[in-house]
Amino acid sequence: MTTTNHTDYLVRATALDERVRAFALNATGVVQELQRRHDTYPAVTAALGRTAMGALLLSASTLKEPDQVLTVDVRGNGPVRRVMVTADGRGQVRGLVGDPHVHADSTNGKLNVRGVVGTEGYLAVTKDLGMRETYRGMVELVSGEIGDDLAYYMAKSEQTPSAVGIGVFVNPDLTVEAAGGYLVQLLPGLSDDEIGAIEQRIAALPHPTQLLREGTTPEQMLERIFPEGYTFGDRQDVTFHCPCSRERFEAAIVSLGHEEVTRIVEEEEQPYTEVVCHFCNETYHFSPDEMQAILAAAR
Ligand SMILES: [Zn+2]
Repeated sequence: MTTTNHTDYLVRATALDERVRAFALNATGVVQELQRRHDTYPAVTAALGRTAMGALLLSASTLKEPDQVLTVDVRGNGPVRRVMVTADGRGQVRGLVGDPHVHADSTNGKLNVRGVVGTEGYLAVTKDLGMRETYRGMVELVSGEIGDDLAYYMAKSEQTPSAVGIGVFVNPDLTVEAAGGYLVQLLPGLSDDEIGAIEQRIAALPHPTQLLREGTTPEQMLERIFPEGYTFGDRQDVTFHCPCSRERFEAAIVSLGHEEVTRIVEEEEQPYTEVVCHFCNETYHFSPDEMQAILAAAR
């Protein structure tokens, strides 16, 4: 199932004679859908939303084909335990968290993302590029705020100095008011003065959610970072999408094998077998007759 929000999109751009690559997005609808499906509490919503946007930005900068998939897996020592997101070359994203119902005390009114993620652990990025070509990189967490951790990953694992600014603003009723941000990658050939100027403008930029709440578009975010101008690349919709289906789960149960399926059928206390997709929280029910058919297929 896919959820589309017309204000959600990502732009690709270059600046300074292609010595800078930049990406900006509004993903408010995507993060709202993640919050709704996983019933996350505010700091967890921010952790999941930032990871989802980081995966979308990273996908936009590295994936070349629509079917390629990038996974960001954050495992910290905080109470949420795990935040995992997958995004593909079409801008489709889904994700899960270890525990959606945890809090961390907030300081100066800001959501305490590192309080739920933790400050020790790792962030792993896996790219499935098709044709059995998989790339995996991993870094230790340096902040637990996700954005800085992704920037550290890009500097260390991909040797690309990057600035990542991503944020999620959660309303008192737990819904998502704004979610978005940018990724700026510095390529070889920039002078120290040029790097300094970019860093200054990024440092002076209001928080991404403040910009979005003022009505700033992703294109306008890039204009603020590159007032001398930038070259527009393309615009891509970003959507929540989970490819799960009854057929996929049926095949997955069959693949458990005859013995395991027999055990599931025998130990089932409900009048049906229920399977829940951890990525979208969709539930699928299989009747005893359907389970018998699956059992026959698992022989
Ligand atoms: Zn699903």
